[in-house]
Amino acid sequence: MIKENLALVQENIEKACRRAGRDPKEVTLITVSKTNPVVRLKEAMDCGVTVFGENKVQEMLEKQEELPDTLQWHMIGHLQRNKVKYLMGKVALIHSVDSLRLAEEINKEAAKQGTEEDILIEINVAQEESKFGISITEAIELVESIAKLPHVHIKGLMTIAPFVDDPEENRGIFAALKKLSVDIAEKNIDNVNMHVLSMGMTNDYQVAIEEGATMVRVGTGIFGRRTYTS
Ligand SMILES: *Cc1c(COP(=O)(O)O)cnc(C)c1O
Repeated sequence: MIKENLALVQENIEKACRRAGRDPKEVTLITVSKTNPVVRLKEAMDCGVTVFGENKVQEMLEKQEELPDTLQWHMIGHLQRNKVKYLMGKVALIHSVDSLRLAEEINKEAAKQGTEEDILIEINVAQEESKFGISITEAIELVESIAKLPHVHIKGLMTIAPFVDDPEENRGIFAALKKLSVDIAEKNIDNVNMHVLSMGMTNDYQVAIEEGATMVRVGTGIFGRRTYTS
């Protein structure tokens, strides 16, 4: 089933790119493997998956131990400062930085462990109270502050759009994130680039791509519905 699901998602990505006049090579599919056991990740690997997204540090580290180190990992979930030290050097990108305090902790631990970390700033475009992320109006100030941290490099923005019945309802959110990234890029801030736009999940990745996503995070659409055991 993973194989068929993956083929469908890849086809949908290509179609969305074609509609938007974009090159599918610009879009990275992050296979979100949270809550799935290692055996399912291996199945995905057999279908060619090399990029996984996880939302819990401990769970990700356990999976990494059992899998080859050729894989690329993305931390997409809310990150607690006391977990940062375990994450350094273990992920390609941290998608969920939404405060200066968290960025400072990453900077401190990265320096201590002799690494540097690429991050995205998580924006709560829809201003949902239940979600993490900073508001659009606070974003530039946060970016300017984090840019001064030498072991942390901002590569773009991320958002989690609301769960909606019709993905078209989220189009404005994705367009707003794209606009914010252009506004920030135009400021030419040292140690900041805006190449990555991480937006779109199973329900709405096609609309997100039409609005400029360069990374889509798809879990259910590849692995099927998650079962939570705890
Ligand atoms: C779980 C999760 C996803 C994937 O969600 P699906 O709807 O299963 O595709 C994407 N991004 C984040 C931040 C997540 O926590």
